Amino acid sequence: MAQRAAEYLKADLRQLRLITCHLGNGASVCAVEYGRSVETSMGMTPLEGLVMGTRSGDLDPGILLYLMEKENLDRKGLDALLNRQSGLQGLSGVGNDMRDIVERAAEGDEACRLAIHVFAHRLRKYIGAYAAVMGGVDAIIFTGGIGENSAIIRHRASQRLDFLGASLDEDMNRDLDVTPNQPIEDISASHSRCKILVVATDEQYAIAQQTSKLIEERYKVNTVPPIPIAVSARHIHLCQATVDKLFGVGYQLTEYRPLSQPGQFACNEKLTLVGPKNRIENVRILGPVRDKDQVEISRTDEFFLGIDAPIRESGHVENSPGITLLAENGNKLDIKEGVICAWRHIHMTPEDAEIFGVQDRDVVEIRVENEERGLTFGNVLIRISPKFKLEMHIDTDEANAAELNPGAVGALMDTEASGHLVKRKTQYDKV
Ligand code: AMP
Repeated sequence: MAQRAAEYLKADLRQLRLITCHLGNGASVCAVEYGRSVETSMGMTPLEGLVMGTRSGDLDPGILLYLMEKENLDRKGLDALLNRQSGLQGLSGVGNDMRDIVERAAEGDEACRLAIHVFAHRLRKYIGAYAAVMGGVDAIIFTGGIGENSAIIRHRASQRLDFLGASLDEDMNRDLDVTPNQPIEDISASHSRCKILVVATDEQYAIAQQTSKLIEERYKVNTVPPIPIAVSARHIHLCQATVDKLFGVGYQLTEYRPLSQPGQFACNEKLTLVGPKNRIENVRILGPVRDKDQVEISRTDEFFLGIDAPIRESGHVENSPGITLLAENGNKLDIKEGVICAWRHIHMTPEDAEIFGVQDRDVVEIRVENEERGLTFGNVLIRISPKFKLEMHIDTDEANAAELNPGAVGALMDTEASGHLVKRKTQYDKV
């Protein structure tokens, strides 16, 4: 109803304070403040609030004690009385159908008049209370069998609401006819600041909308595309000054083959890494040259070389350990810092980021499915640039841990640190 009303008023639901009055056999009022339901008249059970077809609505809790003592009612008796024999039925004595009650009242039936009076009075009380809760009201909306069809109830409920800026156009109220083709009508007077609307209930549509939203959220993981995974073997980035020292002044690195990230390439040139414990030969240099030297190795390489390198984002080499670089021509250079273990990360474009719902420097989890060694990578850094191509970068240790093959992909997990049960061993499992 709130949504329909906002559309009808050509307004943003988030800028409206609405009071919706659902008056059917069950009845309730709701305060919808800027798109959020902030108060509703039903309580832990539907019994609280408005007078309904057969429910009492609000009453003095002392009445329960009184009924238990004077009428000797137990829980069952109270339940039957308050839920099925009260409300319009109890007050009118002729049943719960508002049409009969209105007809009898017109013929002078006092009990039916009282029923209408109590029903409308309680409703007006709630409208006033909810206007106070929200600090004002932009539209009051009637719906449900009574709300849509009973001009007299709308007339009674709207009486004396001028202080809220709400006045009814009596002729329009009387002649109103909401239909599926014309499901919403404005019955407020032209000078009325607060609109009074009648909306045809469409619960099926609302249920379908909510259901579809739930389903969409439930399967959100599957709606985002898989992320290709690239495995980086140990490699070296150099600055031009280091290239000069190792290969000769002004030497230009030569391209062996392009890499997946645009503009990046593997070079023909390779170096030997010399650590305190061991050396690793044939480590490829990647181009183009950078501002700083950077040697990216795996944890296994660190143990082998005898170096304790930190996990770092590419480019952040401050206070990392140095190493000795040895070229094939025999030139040797000790770099003071630059050895890191790369922080696993995902390159993506701003358009990809939109699809995945992430921002630059977010840290996410990536699930990799694999029959034997599927696993979830935690602490994966998101890096966004229009120049990037969607790809997750991990090192050889990480790829081996997940038993990854070429063409492997990962899925962005939509919950923080939540593992999910894939398989449970049962007594029927073969060893
Ligand atoms: P609902 O639960 O929304 O189907 O509404 C049922 C209630 O609407 C019953 O109390 C009906 O008597 C009432 N109702 C239906 N049509 C009319 C009408 N023309 N005038 C007054 N009440 C009506």
